[in-house]
Amino acid sequence: MIDLHCHVLPGIDDGPETLEESVALARVAVDAGIDTLVATPHVNSRTPNDSATIARLVDTLNQRLDEEHVDLEVLPGGEIAISHLAEIEPQELSRLGLGGGPQVVHVRLSQRCQQRHGGLRPVRDLRRQHVDR
Ligand SMILES: [Zn+2]
Repeated sequence: MIDLHCHVLPGIDDGPETLEESVALARVAVDAGIDTLVATPHVNSRTPNDSATIARLVDTLNQRLDEEHVDLEVLPGGEIAISHLAEIEPQELSRLGLGGGPQVVHVRLSQRCQQRHGGLRPVRDLRRQHVDR
């Protein structure tokens, strides 16, 4: 089973603060039957995480899980605030795709963001730029 949305990386958003807490969360996921976890740290103005940081932490966590014999693979991703979409360069946005692939981007919607940023316009603009060409 794959979990496509999890704040499992340590110290970069409102998820675990330490690597030990990340390992504990991974153990809970394995107990629930999950074998693949896509790390989706927040990418927004308050926590402007980038793909290089996420990739480094995914590697660190996977190495630690291997050392502790926790049978779980963590893949990179991100939960990108709709208000932050237009600020991310296309290549960086591709690197933030779910599971490390560029085809699927996880966008966080919020009522406040929709009011400030014209509803779903940032998502429609993104689609126009990358899908409808
Ligand atoms: Zn989330």
